[in-house]
Amino acid sequence: MTLTETKVKRDSMEKQSSSPLTKYTEFRHYTPKSLEEIPQVKKLDPEQRFEMKVVSRVLPFKVNQYVLNELIDWDNIPADPIFQLTFPQKGMLKDADFNAVADMLRNNAPSEELKKKVHEIRYTLNPHPADQMQLNVPKVNGERLPGVQHKYKETALFFPTSGQTCHAYCTFCFRWAQFVGINELKFASKEASQLVEYLRQHKEVSDILFTGGDPMVMKTRVFNRYLEPFLQSDLDHVQTIRIGTKAVAYWPQRFVTDSDADEFLRTIEKLVSNGKHVAIMGHYNHWVELETPIAREAIRRIRDTGAQIRTQSPLIRHINDDPEVWETMWRNQVRYGLIPYYMFVERDTGARNYFEVPLVEAWDIFRKAWMKVSGLGRTVRGPSMSASPGKVEVQGVTEVRGEKVIVLRFIQGRNPDWVERPFFAKYDQKASWLDQLQPAFNENKFFYEEEFEQVQAKAMAKAG
Ligand SMILES: *Cc1c(COP(=O)(O)O)cnc(C)c1O
Ligand code: SF4
Repeated sequence: MTLTETKVKRDSMEKQSSSPLTKYTEFRHYTPKSLEEIPQVKKLDPEQRFEMKVVSRVLPFKVNQYVLNELIDWDNIPADPIFQLTFPQKGMLKDADFNAVADMLRNNAPSEELKKKVHEIRYTLNPHPADQMQLNVPKVNGERLPGVQHKYKETALFFPTSGQTCHAYCTFCFRWAQFVGINELKFASKEASQLVEYLRQHKEVSDILFTGGDPMVMKTRVFNRYLEPFLQSDLDHVQTIRIGTKAVAYWPQRFVTDSDADEFLRTIEKLVSNGKHVAIMGHYNHWVELETPIAREAIRRIRDTGAQIRTQSPLIRHINDDPEVWETMWRNQVRYGLIPYYMFVERDTGARNYFEVPLVEAWDIFRKAWMKVSGLGRTVRGPSMSASPGKVEVQGVTEVRGEKVIVLRFIQGRNPDWVERPFFAKYDQKASWLDQLQPAFNENKFFYEEEFEQVQAKAMAKAG
C-alpha cells in the first residue's frame, strides 16, 4: 500500500470513533507536578504515592495517557515492567538521599534548600558517563559544535536543540541530565546549517544519527529543516540517515494520527527515493510495546516508506532481565519486519544500583534468548557497553589454560584497529561495567589501554 492509500484507509478508520488507532489523538502528558492527578495513581496507597513524589524530585518523570492506559498493567503494580520503566521507585535513590528529600518535603522545607539538595544528589549520579562532554565534541571552522558528537569515523551523532525531550521518560535513562535542567551539561545545537557545514568537511561520515532526547518530539516542519539538506548532492557521502527514537513505543501516534505524521513519512519517502538508506533506530524495552494496534500500524507505515526499523534496548533489572522477554521481543520484531540490532548494558549513571545487571548475568540472558531465535533474529549484538574506549561486547565466559575468563571484543573502538580482537578479563561475577574488570592472566593492562590513555590526553588538550 502506498502512503496515499494508507491515508485513505486511515481517514475511513477515523470515522469509526472507537478505533484503537484514533483513541489518543491529543497528546497529554504528566510531570512531577501533575503526578498525583493521574487517575491510576490516585488509587495507589498514600505511602507509595509519597515515595514516587520524592524520587521524581531528583530523577526525570514524564508519562502520557497512551503509556498509562495501554502499556501498563495496573493490576500488576509495582512489578509491571512498563510501570518500572516510567514511574519513579524508592529503590532508585540511596536511602540517605531518599530520606533527606523525604524529610524536606514532609517539613515543607524552603524551595531553595530543596533545590540545592536535589542538585547535590544529581551531581553524585554521574550525569555524563564515558566522557561524552570532553572527548567527542567536534569543531567547525574553529567553533565548537555542542550538538554534534563524532567518536567513530563513519558515524556522527546529532542532537537537535528541539529534540531534547521525549514523549515519556525512562527511569533508567542516561540522558537524564539533559532533562532535569542542568544547563551547563546540556548538549544543544544552534543550527542545522552548522551540521551541514561540518558534514561537508567530513567526507568520511557515511552515517548521520539523529538522537536526543527523542528527535521525533519535533514537529515535522522543524525536523524537515534538518532532514532536507540530505537531499542535496553536497551531502552525497552521507548514505544512511538514522533516527533514534522511542516514539515507536511511547507515542506511535507520531507516525499514524498526529496531524503531521503523513508529512514526516513523505520526507522519509523522499530521502529513500533519493538513494538514502533511512533507518529508524527503534527503542523497544519490552515486547508489550510492540503489541498494541497503533504500535503495529506505526511499524507498517514506516516500513511502507522504504525505511528500515532496527531495534535496540538496554538490559535492565526489573524491566527486561529475563531471557523469555528478549526471546519474545526479538521473535516478534522479526515477524513484524524489524531488525534486532543491539542489546546494551545499562550505563554507569543515574539510578544505576537499581537497574544494573552484572556482565556475566547479562551474557547469560543474551545467550539464552539468542539460542531460541532463528538466524534472522541473530542480527542482534550484545550485551554491549558503550564505554569511553569504544563499544565493548561481552562474548562469553570460558576457561583458558585453567583460568576462568570473560571474553570481550570491541564492536567499535576509538581506534578502529581495536575491533574484532578478542581479549580476556578475569572472571568476575559481580562486575557490571568495563572499568570493574581486570585483565586475565595477571597482565597489567588490557591491550588498548596505553594507547587509549594517549588518545584521551590528546583529545583533552585539543578540547581545551
Ligand atoms: C553506538 C555509537 C555509534 C554508532 O555505532 P554503530 O555500531 O555504527 O551503530 C556512533 N557513535 C557513538 C558515540 C556511539 O556510541
Ligand atoms: S526515550 Fe530515550 S532519551 Fe528519552 S528517556 Fe527514554 S531512553 Fe532516555
